[in-house]
Amino acid sequence: MLSKRGRGAASLLWGSNLGDRPANLASAREAIRAAAGPILNTSAVYRTEAWGKTDQPEFLNQVVEVETDLDPEALLETLMDIERQMGRERSERWAPRTIDLDILYYGQDVVQTARLMLPHPGIPDRRFTLVPLAEIAPDFVHPQYGKTNQQLLRACYDLLTVREYF
Ligand code: ATP
Ligand code: CA
Ligand code: CA
Repeated sequence: MLSKRGRGAASLLWGSNLGDRPANLASAREAIRAAAGPILNTSAVYRTEAWGKTDQPEFLNQVVEVETDLDPEALLETLMDIERQMGRERSERWAPRTIDLDILYYGQDVVQTARLMLPHPGIPDRRFTLVPLAEIAPDFVHPQYGKTNQQLLRACYDLLTVREYF
């Protein structure tokens, strides 16, 4: 049997555009800390225009780095459990949600299965992901593109607004 023990640091993106958004981010943080492991680094919270399906309220987004013993699949499972516990309802893709928890990177792992893609394939196209990522990990190198988060941000064509939330 494969070990469930992982190797360390993963970057997560979380977002909310329904209900008490700051409270949803705080609840997700506590649930992830308890279930996955300590949070080592945290970006600012950003207000971001909705991407993909734009006729919906703006999101709050934040990126964190978590140290975990869970392997990538177990980490995804844990994040989906937390989404369910927090009342996320799945309707159409990119619909409004109380909480969305994505794995951006898991070290330098590359995974391409139906359930899990690592790195998250949306990274290069999304300023709402790259701005907080480049804040906490500017020099981290994307294992497929060989570019840093800072370089990916500079090259990103996304024009949607991303502002710090106070
Ligand atoms: P997007 O993935 O484009 O950001 P989304 O977050 O709205 O869109 P969801 O409905 O939350 O999409 O998730 C769809 C599926 O994506 C999940 O069932 C999950 O299995 C899969 N998935 C693949 N790779 C990842 C990843 N790196 N992190 C989180 N979910 C992933
Ligand atoms: Ca997402
Ligand atoms: Ca998701």
